[in-house]
Order: sequence, then structure tokens, then C-alpha cells
Amino acid sequence: MSEPDYWSELNWTNGWDDQLPSVVAVSERSDESGSRKIINGTSRRRARSRSESDLVVAVADRGAYDTAFLDPNSDMFRRIATYLSANAAARTLAPPQGERTRMVRAQDKIDELSLKPALSANDILVLKTNLTTLREDPSYIKPAYVALYTQHGVPRTKKSPPKSGKVIITKIRVIRHPALWAQYDAARDRIRDDIAATKDEIHKFNHEMAEAGVPVYIPLPKALTTGGKVSGRSAVTFTTKSKVGLTEDSREKLPVLNRKIGEVLLMHGTLPDVIKIIADKGFNPDYNQGTTTGNITKYGALGQGTYFGDSFAKVQTYTGCPICNALKCDCVDQDDQPVDRMLILARCLLGIPTKARTHDSHRTENTATIKDGKHSVIGQERGIFKSWTLFGSNEFMLKQADQMYPEFIVYWHRA
Ligand SMILES: [Zn+2]
Repeated sequence: MSEPDYWSELNWTNGWDDQLPSVVAVSERSDESGSRKIINGTSRRRARSRSESDLVVAVADRGAYDTAFLDPNSDMFRRIATYLSANAAARTLAPPQGERTRMVRAQDKIDELSLKPALSANDILVLKTNLTTLREDPSYIKPAYVALYTQHGVPRTKKSPPKSGKVIITKIRVIRHPALWAQYDAARDRIRDDIAATKDEIHKFNHEMAEAGVPVYIPLPKALTTGGKVSGRSAVTFTTKSKVGLTEDSREKLPVLNRKIGEVLLMHGTLPDVIKIIADKGFNPDYNQGTTTGNITKYGALGQGTYFGDSFAKVQTYTGCPICNALKCDCVDQDDQPVDRMLILARCLLGIPTKARTHDSHRTENTATIKDGKHSVIGQERGIFKSWTLFGSNEFMLKQADQMYPEFIVYWHRA
């Protein structure tokens, strides 16, 4: 079993070291500047239901895995930070105006704060940020909130959603999980064999057709290309258009690690607590439960599975502030630095992908369904789509847990 070479050079500790701000919370402390401070992770946990907090603590604190931080001066850190920063700078994106999940989350935060007998200076800033979020769609402003807008001097005029922006990568945590890695390593062999078998079959078929003089030829499937054009069936072009800061070497290694089996590094943005669960248990495609109406269950645009992206701009639109939930805010940590958010940069085996148009009806396909000889689903989006200022961004979906490994947890904030 071949573990990545650089792992041998890292200083590992078991599980998730809670000295580090993985779960952050608003402290009750206020200061003259009125800025929000993180002291520790306790108050957020207390706010959770008992069973949920037990789960998070149980899986996250003693793990079957080790973690280590990359030295910020190391070549690996520099390559990842350079790639991600250039990716974020290459395009800007705004989430859909008045997006329901974000509006409801802002309402929940306002409701939660409304129950408090007294608000600290920090609470007031969180409140104001969330009142501002609802301005994207004033129909979410409940009658009870009107007084709060007046009281805190927040206008109620319509406002656009915040755009993604440049980022600063502060820390990169590596996950060493021997059991998950062994599974992943075996999946590489499985996919390699599978691709070889598919190619053999097609090759044999083409040969027979040629022998029989039938003018039929099926091109051999390819995994990935990183160039400017799609070549071969089922090949995909990555959308990292910016070459700024990307050396030839890093372009080769990030995000494509092994072209033949479609091994790539892809981004996955989710909540900090979920990231800890993924570090311990791996990705779980069944976690995507979908929405059931009658006896039909619908999932995301590509069906049931775990979704990844290759656009940091898009990932930013999923990643709320751990303190106030907003996509853009001024929250700071104890060193007066902007609060870090997290994303997973995961190793994924796309193998031979099947392409799906997002408007096709793949929504009812579950993890048990994937085309013969295919290993992943890719949705390529182009042009301006609804309210998204989107110029090319790929979505990737995997249905088998062994094809994904949560290798890097990247800590970042907006520049
Ligand atoms: Zn915030």
C-alpha cells in the first residue's frame, strides 16, 4: 500500500486537536471596538441538541485518524495555496439573490437572538449582519423584525447578495486515516482494471468490425484532460483558466494527480462539524437523502451522491461564517484576524466519467445507478445561468465512498 511520500515528513497527532479553532463560537466578552471575538468552542456546542453534540464530540475527538499541519514554507503548502488563491481570483460569483436556505438560516439566527434577555455587543453585530442578509429578499423580513431594523439603524431597502472574492490560505491540515486510505488505494486498482477491461472490449469490437469490413469505430474512452479542449469521449476540461501563479509543475499536479484513472483534487465545502465527521468516517454518498414527494425521491441536479466542485468561487457561496452564518462579514478571531472558514480538498477518483447536463432529469437516480463502465458523473455549466454570474464551473458527483479521500482541510478567509 503506497501512502503519499510527503506523509513521512509530517508531525502527526491523533484525532482532531481541539486547541485549534475547528469549532468556533461567539464569546460573551465585548470590548470597546465592538468586534466579535472567538474564545473557544464551548458555547456553540452548548447551543446544540444533546444527541447531536454527543455525535460530533464522539466522532471528532478520538479518531481512527491522525492529523498534521503542512509547514507554510513547504513546497506542498505553497502549491496548494497558490492553486486555490489563483482559482478564487480567476472568477467571482454571487449566490442566487434571496436564496431560501440562507434566508431561513438568517431568520433562525435573528429568532435565536430575539429570545435572549440581553444582547452583548457581539450579539448586536451578528444580529445586524443577519438583518442585512434578509435585505436580499424583504419578503423574509417578518413583521416582528421591523422594530429591530429601526432600533439598530439597518435600512430595509433591497440589497444584492455578496460576491465571492480573493482568499488567503492560512493553514492546511492533512488527514492520515489508514483504513480509509487502504480502501481508497484498492479503489485505484479497481478503476484501473475496469478501464483496461472496457478498453479491451471496445478494441476487440473495433477489430472485429474492421475485419468484417463494417465501417463502425467506437473511440476509446478517456478519463481526463486539463487542456483547453475536451478530447475523446467523456473527457473533461478543468475550468482553472487563470495561469497566474501556477507553474507548469503545479498545474500538472493540481488538480490532476493521475490522468489515466482520473485522480484529481476537488473542493468540497460544508459545515465545520460535518468536516470533522468526514475526517473520521470518510465521505458518505448515502448521506444525501434527497427530498421525497409521494413515492418519488429527488436528489441534486446530478442525482444521489457526494458533490464536489473545481471552483473556489462557488465553494465560497456555500461556506457561511462559523460565527454569524453570513457569506460575507467582518467577524474576527482572538488575534483580530478575519475568522477562518474551511474547505476539504479531496482526492477523488473520477475514472471514466459520464457527462450529465444539469437540466436533464438525473434527480431521481440514486447511488445504485450508474452507467456501465462509468465511475462518476460530471455536470459542466457554461454561460450565464439564472442569477449566477457563472462562466464555466464543473460539478462532480461520486456514488462510491471508496473513490474519495479527505486529504486536506484548508483554512481560509477572504483577502
Ligand atoms: Zn461572521
